[in-house]
Amino acid sequence: MNKDKRRAILERLRDNNPHPQTELNYSSPFELLVAVTLSAQATDVSVNKATDKLFPVANTPQAIADLGVDGLKEYIKTIGLYNNKAINVVALSKILVEQYNGEVPENREALESLPGVGRKTANVVLNTAFGWPTIAVDTHIFRVSNRTRFAPGKNVQEVEDKLLKVVPAEFKVDVHHWLILHGRYTCIARKPRCGSCLIEDLCEFKEKIYPDD
Ligand code: SF4
Repeated sequence: MNKDKRRAILERLRDNNPHPQTELNYSSPFELLVAVTLSAQATDVSVNKATDKLFPVANTPQAIADLGVDGLKEYIKTIGLYNNKAINVVALSKILVEQYNGEVPENREALESLPGVGRKTANVVLNTAFGWPTIAVDTHIFRVSNRTRFAPGKNVQEVEDKLLKVVPAEFKVDVHHWLILHGRYTCIARKPRCGSCLIEDLCEFKEKIYPDD
């Protein structure tokens, strides 16, 4: 895909949604870190249901550490992989208390060293809590980037590298959310809604599906 087309896609996504937001509920970097950690292989809706009850009770590293693994499980047991997630969230909370004064570090290396926090989670926190121009590649962004040929790659790291290279600076902070939302609601995995797609004329996918409903 050439750069004029890429720019046209980004402009259209921006015009359609000038201030895109995550669909996870949070009100602090720590709440976001917990929500993103819980969201692995789970829907944002299911995470929000759990954190809507959890955060009023415990929304700081000290409070989650005090809750303990068993206490945390009670709040998150409707989410997939909750056993491991509870262990990781309590462990990372203790580290934040002991080593970071109870704050979420605005630092990739420090974030990625926390239990259960990989590159994708660190990218989301740096981008969404701190406004860094990082681009976390999840299943939706990977699919949209490849289908459209906007930023094709064989694995998530290749797609991330390509996106960082081809997305102009003015779009970098928001492109993560535009592509996720596009993948979640329009360019869906099993049956993309090409008939009502905002960028249908610019997308280079060879197997577009019409009508979409
Ligand atoms: S035209 Fe279809 S394949 Fe291309 S981005 Fe839109 S929904 Fe996805």
